[in-house]
Amino acid sequence: MGFKQTEVNTLLAVCHRRCCVCHRFCGIKIELHHIRPLEAGGDDSIENAIPLCFECHAEVQLYNDKHPRGRKFRPEELLEHKKQWLKICIESPGALLMPQRPYDVGPVQALIDELVFNNEVAQITDADTIGTLFLVTQFERSISEGLFSLLPDQVRIPISSTYAILMRANMSLNKMALMPWGGSGSAWHHAYMNAKKAIEASQPKIPEALNSLLEHLKHEEADAEQGH
Ligand SMILES: [Zn+2]
Repeated sequence: MGFKQTEVNTLLAVCHRRCCVCHRFCGIKIELHHIRPLEAGGDDSIENAIPLCFECHAEVQLYNDKHPRGRKFRPEELLEHKKQWLKICIESPGALLMPQRPYDVGPVQALIDELVFNNEVAQITDADTIGTLFLVTQFERSISEGLFSLLPDQVRIPISSTYAILMRANMSLNKMALMPWGGSGSAWHHAYMNAKKAIEASQPKIPEALNSLLEHLKHEEADAEQGH
């Protein structure tokens, strides 16, 4: 049977195709979940339907009673989510127009912390102490999570050119680690000189990248305070 199409149309329009649990706009990536499952006596009435995004729907479905982790979404709670979200949609539609922050401080702060650490590593160029690899995890995360593409050019360019150098330095550092130590003219020494050169090139670049990011964060916070 399924839910009645005319009622589904109304429900999707009223919720603005936003997930009732996380409130994200879903477009076509929205599904109707039976608040009380059919096998538990639920029915196909529209009162028993809650619009959910794929992620939330998966979480609601995936909970395993035999291996409980986290807290299960119970029908009563889902019903509350639906009621609350529809109330917001109907009574305070202005909430839908509030700008969503493109990202929270989390990944930006993590990138700053990584650059601070990398700045320390960049001070080590002596043959005796060199060898610590630069961290690139947060840089990669900022790309894979879409933060990087949201940054303005004047922030993105210094960061990417800095990390290009750091990754080159890592390559040479890895090479050095695989080779037996050798004096001038040896393969080890060649890798060492390459690593040293890359690290020295990164020394002025890292603070520059760091500053551009800190400046950007300051503006973001100022904008948020002014309610932009
Ligand atoms: Zn959701």
